[in-house]
Amino acid sequence: MINSEKIIELIGISREFEDGVLAVDNVSLYVRKGEFITFLGPSGCGKTTTLRMIAGFDKPSSGKILLNGKDISDLPPNKRPINTVFQRYALFPHLNVYENVAFGLKLKKIKVTYENAKGETIQKIEKLKKHEINQKVEKALKIVDLEGFEKRSVSTLSGGQQQRVAIARAIVNEPQILLLDEPLGALDLKMRKDMQLELKEMHRKLGITFIYVTHDQEEALTMSDTIVVMKDGIIQQIGTPTDIYNEPKNSFVADFIGDSNIFSGTMVGNKKVKFIGNNFDCVDDYPKNEKVDVVVRPEDVLLTDVENGQVKGKIISSIFKGVHYEMVMQVGKSEVVIQDTIEKKVGETVGLIIKPEDIHIMEKEFSSNKYEGYITKKNTVCFGDGEFECDVTQLYPGSILDEDGYVITSDGEKIDLTDVDVDVEVGLKDIEISDEQDIGGVMGNIISMIYKGDHYQLIVRTDENEEDFVFDTEDTWNENDRVSVIIPKDKIKLSLKQEIKR
Ligand code: ADP
Ligand code: MG
Repeated sequence: MINSEKIIELIGISREFEDGVLAVDNVSLYVRKGEFITFLGPSGCGKTTTLRMIAGFDKPSSGKILLNGKDISDLPPNKRPINTVFQRYALFPHLNVYENVAFGLKLKKIKVTYENAKGETIQKIEKLKKHEINQKVEKALKIVDLEGFEKRSVSTLSGGQQQRVAIARAIVNEPQILLLDEPLGALDLKMRKDMQLELKEMHRKLGITFIYVTHDQEEALTMSDTIVVMKDGIIQQIGTPTDIYNEPKNSFVADFIGDSNIFSGTMVGNKKVKFIGNNFDCVDDYPKNEKVDVVVRPEDVLLTDVENGQVKGKIISSIFKGVHYEMVMQVGKSEVVIQDTIEKKVGETVGLIIKPEDIHIMEKEFSSNKYEGYITKKNTVCFGDGEFECDVTQLYPGSILDEDGYVITSDGEKIDLTDVDVDVEVGLKDIEISDEQDIGGVMGNIISMIYKGDHYQLIVRTDENEEDFVFDTEDTWNENDRVSVIIPKDKIKLSLKQEIKR
């Protein structure tokens, strides 16, 4: 059972490797006694490094680790009541199951207290007795469901059975904490699913703390009491599986956990958000005009007929996934993924409804303006409802323009960029505005001006498709001013949407 007592506490742990890689960046968290806690994140996010520091195989560059309230920074691994199960479980191939599990116990020395004939207590360091080892091994094998396998050679076991031997070997020492680093990673899908349930059962039987590492979100959601989502050495969110699934803190977590629709949206009023071309009621309150990410789970998009929908669109694909259909609906420029047990056919125009409580709003980490655009015959770029001068040679490093305006690559190839789709990025510091008409790439109105301490952040919105230009300025303007948007040629960053066929 989990109780409120903290067994492990990490306080501001960082680990910087000698080559300058900051694998773990100021991580603070606690683990409660008896908890099943999972570190979840993509490969390279610092999970193993964190686990190795808890086990004592690696030392933090800064920060403290407490075990039952005491600093264990200087305690070597074998003195910690912690055992680890790795993905690559190195069993001894020449030993049988019993000997593999008993191996550590045979080396173990324990303090024994005796009372001699005179009634004095004396302490001796002794090895475990054979029957004690027997008992412990039997108990461990029972927990991993390998009773009767004692004499079997480990090389005759399946992957799943071998992993169970590795777990038995770790729990035979009766640790307070079991660390498991992607222990099911080497197993096939079916075996992995079975082992997930069995591990959960072992956790229940043992009643000890499990600290588990995986990059598999489904595994984390099925098994854990608590999930710690990590990215780039930084904790993104800590919570129960339900919390993490239903209330992701940012778009990284939302994207990583389960299938999600993530739309760019704008707050248009009190608990009202605009995305996919419609104003929806929602339950989160953010300032008006704030740019937000909107997360909607595919199972929360409800399909209806066109008249009753909040938004209409066309079904462009549908795949049967066993229980439900996964359909994609085109709504304007956006695609909405929908899961439903009733299929709408490809080509059908339908309506959709999303309930306020199923719309999850997250603060956008806004660092630049991003648009989709295309190159014109004149080597300008159209995006954000306007047309801007740009440098198309950046699309091919080392290229030049010939006198007819074609790009000549460094290999001497001639490329026609007319109508080629590009991604356009413009930084927050790279946009200027002027109240002179039509001297920039597009005209718009200032719809928001937020003071950010030493500058203003402005949003200029165009008329036609309501495209937004967000930028920082030290000048003061007024809301509703009508302005031209000017972007210096060298500040427009272009990248090809796809490699063009030559
Ligand atoms: P995860 O287990 O989440 O995949 P790791 O903790 O293994 O991630 O690694 C985190 C980062 O630290 C990675 O960028 C990895 O390349 C780097 N790293 C891990 N171990 C070392 C090491 N001994 N020396 C240098 N860099 C390392
Ligand atoms: Mg790892």
